[in-house]
Parts: sequence; structure tokens; C-alpha cells
Amino acid sequence: MNDVGQRGEMRHGEPLSRHTSWRVGGSARRLYRPADSADLVHFLGGLDPDEPLLWIGLGSNLLIGDEGFSGTVIETQGCLTGLELFGETGLRAEAGASCAKVARFASRNGLVGAEFLAGIPGTMGGALAMNAGAFGGETWDWVSRIRTIDRQGRIRVRGPDAYCVGYRHVEGPAGEWFLDAELTLSPGDGEAAMARIRELLARRSRTQPIGLPSCGSVFRNPPGDHAARLIEAVGLKGDSIGGAQVSEKHANFIINTGDASAADIAALIERVQTEVERHSGIRLMPEVRRVGGEQ
Ligand SMILES: Cc1cc2nc3c(=O)[nH]c(=O)nc-3n(C[C@H](O)[C@H](O)[C@H](O)COP(=O)(O)OP(=O)(O)OC[C@H]3O[C@@H](n4cnc5c(N)ncnc54)[C@H](O)[C@@H]3O)c2cc1C
Repeated sequence: MNDVGQRGEMRHGEPLSRHTSWRVGGSARRLYRPADSADLVHFLGGLDPDEPLLWIGLGSNLLIGDEGFSGTVIETQGCLTGLELFGETGLRAEAGASCAKVARFASRNGLVGAEFLAGIPGTMGGALAMNAGAFGGETWDWVSRIRTIDRQGRIRVRGPDAYCVGYRHVEGPAGEWFLDAELTLSPGDGEAAMARIRELLARRSRTQPIGLPSCGSVFRNPPGDHAARLIEAVGLKGDSIGGAQVSEKHANFIINTGDASAADIAALIERVQTEVERHSGIRLMPEVRRVGGEQ
């Protein structure tokens, strides 16, 4: 039952495998889906200061251990999904808006630059946390302002200069999460942008195992090389542990063939790291964020 004044949805003992694209992960003690940002402020304001918190968007870059999460998960996808235009070229997106919707909304409104987001199966919040990117575009290239929220429910407005941003790496003020972002895009031909989105999606489905449970690229590309090339070079394409398998289509993807556990995936990640390092001297670093499990 909801606490007084709390309008969102609380689930207890929620299996996180339902909330991650790898379809693995144990249960969360509680999972909260806020009704809107005001409700989130209210919810966080009443939270025990020692309660462990985990934010998830679409769970498309998360490996959650089989033991689950013994705190509260805040899920933004499907809840904080607002999108609006402002000024000549501004687009404001709430943290739970999907990247695909942001890309299409921009194009439909004659704004270009965000097309690369179309094939990234995450939320705006996840894209901000990861500096998600594809086909030469990166999320933070377009961010002009963001709003964050802390665990007491206090909201702050920040500029990109408050963050140290790199390749799949973002570091900012501790103890704050993304509530929404303002992107400054470029005016342009919306139909051409839609055509580019279609082309980028087609390119993805030719080269990636789309449709099978995965987390996209597991490892960051090391400087001047590609993780997929290094993995292929040591003959690990198709290699598996339990239900986890290095994709035959794209060696930097690990897919859940049906009954993988998080431990299977973690063990395969480790095997890939060990073998690649033994052959090339390069230690591949995971792009995927781990929660729990053997680190
Ligand atoms: C098939 C496939 C293809 C992919 N292709 C790409 C690609 O081309 N480029 C790319 O960059 N990535 C790609 N990814 C990975 C993933 O989609 C991105 O990293 C995406 O940005 C993650 O968003 P999410 O909402 O799913 O985040 P989640 O996986 O839910 O979370 C990722 C991290 O962000 C944090 N987080 C989530 N929301 C917030 C918030 N509001 N505030 C603060 N922190 C938050 C989480 O705590 C976690 O640490 C792919 C994944 C898949 C499955």
C-alpha cells in the first residue's frame, strides 16, 4: 500500500531480471516508480538516510548480481518521460524518456543532432550517466543544462561544466542523480533526420544481435583498437559459460541464450578479460555497470 502522499508505485521483492536487458539479476527489496518529479521529491524526502539506493532506467547497461539488491531501486523508465521543446532549438527530456523517443521527437520537430540516440535502448538518464554514444555522436555533445536530484529530494540546476565527461565516462557532483536534461540541437531538415535514423537502425541490425538479451557492448574499446577485434582474435566468438555466450555476430556482445545467471555472465566477462590480456597484453575494461556479485 502507498505511504500517505506517495503517488508512485512501490513493489516489494521485485525480480530485477524483469528490469534489465540481459534478463538476469536477483530481486530488489523494494522498487519505486515515481508518479512524477514532485512525487519523487516527496518520496526521497521521506527516505531513511541509510537506505541503499540504485537508479535504473531501462537496465540496458547493468549487470545485477543473482543475490539482487538489498535497498530501494528507483526506476524512471515509463514514469519520468516528459519531452518538450523550448526556444528555437531546445529540447527538454526527463530522465525516464527513452533515447529512441528523444531522437524521433527532435527529428519530427525539425531539430537535428540527436539521431544517433535512436538505436540506444536506454533512457535519457542512463545516456547522461554513461555519455552514451554511437556512430560518432555522444550525449554530452548536446547537453546545455541539467537538473539533478539528491537523496533528500533537493533539486539543483547544473551546467555541463560541472561534469568531467569522456568516452562512456561521466563524473560529477557526488550523491546526485539526473532528473532531466536540456539539449541544444541544430535547426535542420526533419525528414532527412528521420531517414538517417532509419539508416542507423538498419546498420545496427546488420551488425549486432538485436532482439537477443544483451547489454550491448560489454567492454570499452581500448585506445586505437576495438574490443570486438581483440576478442575475435583469441577465438572466443561463440564461447559460452552456462547460458551466457559471446555473440557469433558481434564479439563484444554477450548474450543470454535463455537461462543465464548473472554469475555465468560475470564468469564469461572474466574469461574474456584473461584470454585477451594473455594474448595481447591489453586488459579490457567493462563498459557495463555491475551491481553486487563478485567484483
Ligand atoms: C542492444 C544494445 C545496444 C546498445 N548500443 C549502445 C550504443 O550504441 N551506445 C552506447 O553508448 N550504449 C549502448 N548500449 C548500452 C546502453 O543502452 C546505454 O549505456 C544506455 O545509455 C543505458 O541507459 P539505461 O537507461 O538502460 O541505463 P541503465 O542500464 O538503467 O543504467 C546505467 C547506469 O546509469 C545509471 N543511471 C540510470 N538512470 C540514471 C539517472 N537518472 N541519474 C543518474 N544515474 C542514472 C544507473 O545507476 C547505472 O549506473 C546498448 C545496449 C544494448 C542492450
